[in-house]
Amino acid sequence: MVPGPLVVVSGPSGVGKTTVVDELLGRGVLPLRRAVTATTRDPRPGEEDGVDYHFWSPARFLQAVGDGRMLEWARVFDSDFYGTPRAEVDPYRAAGTGVVLVIDVQGAARVRELCPDALSVFITPPSLAELEARLRGRGDVAEDRVVRRLATARQELARQGEFDHVVLNGDLAAAVAELERLVRSRFTT
Ligand code: ADP
Ligand code: 5GP
Repeated sequence: MVPGPLVVVSGPSGVGKTTVVDELLGRGVLPLRRAVTATTRDPRPGEEDGVDYHFWSPARFLQAVGDGRMLEWARVFDSDFYGTPRAEVDPYRAAGTGVVLVIDVQGAARVRELCPDALSVFITPPSLAELEARLRGRGDVAEDRVVRRLATARQELARQGEFDHVVLNGDLAAAVAELERLVRSRFTT
């Protein structure tokens, strides 16, 4: 069995990573699964444990790190822990399913080091003003956190050159089509 590809999708919070990836998965045109990652932050309204994230306590998270059960993990926005359990990646790839990680820029750099065969894609916004509008428009991040995320976004945008590909998320359909094209190429090579 040829292992499924590992696809890392990163970019600033609010750029549309989840939207683009979910749209691609929803098309059902490729055998792909999004890894459900773990976080110590509180669920937002509508978010479900085990679907959007594994919502873990800090103690549980650090236990998983100590046991070597995380592929990568990071402290994001200087507050909460986020990380990718190996169980969300290895068994699926071994069965030939492609796995998509929607993670921050630090995590993406770590995965590139650990898995040089991963396809890394940075999703970029048309402008910082549009990024701010999307982040606020989502309406689920408190004002102080919006400011923190925008400051982080500037640093993240400066690192887009580290990725294999940069996809502009201006027109959503165009961004999804571009990501589909990039991922598809990993199934045929
Ligand atoms: P991320 O996962 O990168 O934090 P989301 O997928 O949650 O971002 O998207 C943030 C907000 O931007 C959402 O309200 C989403 O509907 C909106 N959005 C995503 N892509 C586009 C796009 N191409 N044009 C306009 N709005 C978008
Ligand atoms: P949010 O709180 O908006 O859901 O996510 C905040 C940031 O953490 C986003 O950039 C998201 O992609 C990132 N993130 C989510 N899961 C992981 C993970 O498992 N590892 C890392 N490094 N970042 C993650």
